[in-house]
Amino acid sequence: MDEDIHRKIAIAFQERASSGRRAPQRYLLSGLLRCGRCENRLFSSPRADRRRYVCLSGPDHGGCGRLTVTAPALEELITEAVLYRLDSPELADTIHGRGSSDDRIQILSTDLDAADARREELSTAYGEGTIEIAEWLIARRPIEQRIEQTTRALARLTKTSNLTTFMGTGSELRAAWAGLNLDRQHAIVKAVLDHAAIAPGRAGVQSVELERVSPIWRV
Ligand SMILES: [Zn+2]
Repeated sequence: MDEDIHRKIAIAFQERASSGRRAPQRYLLSGLLRCGRCENRLFSSPRADRRRYVCLSGPDHGGCGRLTVTAPALEELITEAVLYRLDSPELADTIHGRGSSDDRIQILSTDLDAADARREELSTAYGEGTIEIAEWLIARRPIEQRIEQTTRALARLTKTSNLTTFMGTGSELRAAWAGLNLDRQHAIVKAVLDHAAIAPGRAGVQSVELERVSPIWRV
């Protein structure tokens, strides 16, 4: 076989192998559920053909190990609650009450640019020998603090503005839901839901009852 073709095939094969690698197992509500008995995080745990979220005990997880909930029914229920909430007037009121996050992002970005420019100036001044290294370090400290704070505030705001893009789109999302990939679905749920606490079920009851689920909304 031609050396070049052989190499191309090897590369293509490698690429396919790495892109086809299974992502770590994740469920729609991974990281978003807590045990109603011990408040520990619930973990996804398939058993035979059933997907479940469970409270895991032991040193790695530290839960009580005494709570299990069937995944598909719970996911359906919480998805419906999230989509309903996205269209609710309460959510719109809360978001509008906060004022425009776009304006705030604009102000913070300008601050950040100014701090960056100042840091640059200082470094030039030191480079040119206008200031000593000790002066440079002292002058730099408050600027870096400012940059750090502003960056953090921007990150918080960007999270909220993620929500504003989904707000009011509940019914459209409901129609498209099945076609969205898991990451997208997870991002939508996470934009609204901080977490949901799951109360213990009644013995012998398989279904997920509404009373078992206490959603704590982010907004
Ligand atoms: Zn527990």
